[in-house]
Amino acid sequence: MPGFSLDALVRPHLLHMKPYRSARDEFRGNGMVFLDANENNLGAVGGGPWNRYPDPLQLDLKSKVADYEGISSNQVFLGNGSDEAIDLLMRLVCTPAEDQIIVLPPTYGMYRVSANLNQIEVVEVPLRSDLSPDLEKIQASITPRTKMIFFCSPNNPTGNTIALDDIYQITQSFHGLVILDEAYQDFSGTASGVPLLKELKNLVILRTFSKAWGLAGLRLGMAFASPELIAFLTKIKPPYNISGVTQTLAIQALEQVKEKETFVHQIVTERNRLFLHLQTLSGVASVIPSQANFLLVRFDRPARPLYEGLLEAGFVVRDRSHELHCQNGLRISIGTKAENEALLLCLEKLLRH
Ligand SMILES: *Cc1c(COP(=O)(O)O)cnc(C)c1O
Repeated sequence: MPGFSLDALVRPHLLHMKPYRSARDEFRGNGMVFLDANENNLGAVGGGPWNRYPDPLQLDLKSKVADYEGISSNQVFLGNGSDEAIDLLMRLVCTPAEDQIIVLPPTYGMYRVSANLNQIEVVEVPLRSDLSPDLEKIQASITPRTKMIFFCSPNNPTGNTIALDDIYQITQSFHGLVILDEAYQDFSGTASGVPLLKELKNLVILRTFSKAWGLAGLRLGMAFASPELIAFLTKIKPPYNISGVTQTLAIQALEQVKEKETFVHQIVTERNRLFLHLQTLSGVASVIPSQANFLLVRFDRPARPLYEGLLEAGFVVRDRSHELHCQNGLRISIGTKAENEALLLCLEKLLRH
């Protein structure tokens, strides 16, 4: 970070690449007759204002997101899910068949999938058994080809948070980008990394509308970073990556923040109740304390038969038993109170056999 230079990190051919200019980039205004974008001026089949291309820069939505987060609009990038931000960040700084990223397993699978798609080598530095990052091993694994390090906090699939001090320490000494994925931050009682953006120009924070906001169907993810980095992402993104429907509904959601807070409160209350109750079941070896909207439950026996038993009873959970530190483990999302009650009954029955 002391010698961090974004221009030195960005792939050279992207530094001066000219982005696609959409028809509506060239003119903004009301009351005009728009005959510039080959839209259907008669209307939309099914009704609504959707015959028009959406704002490619999502200015209204970004300004609402920025106000809510206490940052500037030019520090916000919006993607078709966080997955699009992950992919574009990788394409911005990683050269295929040359560069590397560091991930800390067990963690979210999309970092690897996106790296595989872009032919980027994935270097694994496993979390320690207490689920904290191994800072010395991370430092020792960094090479001139290492362009990104991914931290996920609260981490998927374990639910624990990673100390901001640890993330700070790595970021301030790294020449590449540190991605801090805060998809589950709303459910966490610990501080966000957003205030660190002021100091750390190589930090990128990922958020999503898919979890606490309950808008997974919209596909809307966010990346917060320096205005310079956001400008590069904006330059390389598909012009209309966020649909008009998504922009309209997300703006509405940001005007009803209380509803999200109520959801979060209910989910956290249920998570804490389920955390205690699960530990009383014989057959449960341990439940990892979670700051997210799911629990990683480790059993004293193979998880697969339990997974299948739950499935047969109509409960779909995630078998994570083959991930590091997740031996015999199932990842269970927090449902409604009634769903959680029914799940507990079913698990109890399965464990008795
Ligand atoms: C669910 C999740 C996301 C969200 O992805 P979207 O593409 O925005 O739905 C991002 N990161 C992690 C770790 C997740 O678990």
